[in-house]
Amino acid sequence: MVEADLHLHSYHSDGVYSPSAIVTQAAQAGLRAIALTDHDTVNGIEEARRAAPATLEVLAGVELSSVYRGREIHLLAYDLDPVDAALVNFLEPVREQRRRRADRIVTRLNRLGLPVTLKEVEEIASGSRGGPPASVGRPHIARAIIRHGGASDIDEAFSRYLGKGCPAFVPRASIPVQDALELVRSRGGFLVVAHPALNLTLEQTSSLASEGLDGIEVWHPRQSPKQRKGLLEIVNSLGLVASGGSDYHGIGRQGDAIAVAGVRLTALEALKEAGRRKKC
Ligand code: AMP
Ligand code: FE
Ligand code: FE
Ligand code: ZN
Repeated sequence: MVEADLHLHSYHSDGVYSPSAIVTQAAQAGLRAIALTDHDTVNGIEEARRAAPATLEVLAGVELSSVYRGREIHLLAYDLDPVDAALVNFLEPVREQRRRRADRIVTRLNRLGLPVTLKEVEEIASGSRGGPPASVGRPHIARAIIRHGGASDIDEAFSRYLGKGCPAFVPRASIPVQDALELVRSRGGFLVVAHPALNLTLEQTSSLASEGLDGIEVWHPRQSPKQRKGLLEIVNSLGLVASGGSDYHGIGRQGDAIAVAGVRLTALEALKEAGRRKKC
């Protein structure tokens, strides 16, 4: 039974909905806790907390891009203070790097004959909502490509232009695993590797998790039952916690719905406890 969905994206990164709308959907789904985990930003947390009923806990989270043994991986850092200056100063340059990367992707698209502009991409990312600019990502660029007729949908924009190995691909800034660990350890938060089966072998996942992570995202809609089983074995052998969440972006990818994956409250408590124990 899913009581806590620990992987959700709002329009502060590449999700479609506002933090308040996500809170409403989470409450309707009967959830007791959620974590907002936008890419490289915690700007949505305060709004989500204001919107949440007393029966729904909102954890501050953030999804960070890293590299492990040459492969891109995603780390989920949780239980942080969204107004903590150290956290804000950590994330700000990462978003600036995203902006510069978007600019380089746009230049490549222009050379390929698509007259996309950075301004247009930023407008797509932040829309008309005001407030701080969103964390710009490839899904926003994909929407600009579609607008210019370069693809008919997001998947096609990725497979023709934006995906790894494609002509407009530019890799994203990578945060060292140790830096992410230091960030959460200094604050008593916890760190989980997101959807590892999408990026790593089981052996690689196991050695990454041994570097001091608190949990592994086992329950994720794009990991198969067989992959989940393998991940659970690692969790058990290392004495970690099995985490989970829907990775909901609100864009109707297959299986993209709130609460399709997640954990019980007892697992959430175990994750928090693991983080507090290792605080330094
Ligand atoms: P970025 O953070 O800019 O590297 O963009 C990665 C994001 O793009 C992921 O978090 C997904 O939300 C999204 N994404 C990746 N591949 C695809 C795809 N084939 N179709 C749609 N969205 C994708
Ligand atoms: Fe995303
Ligand atoms: Fe991810
Ligand atoms: Zn995600």
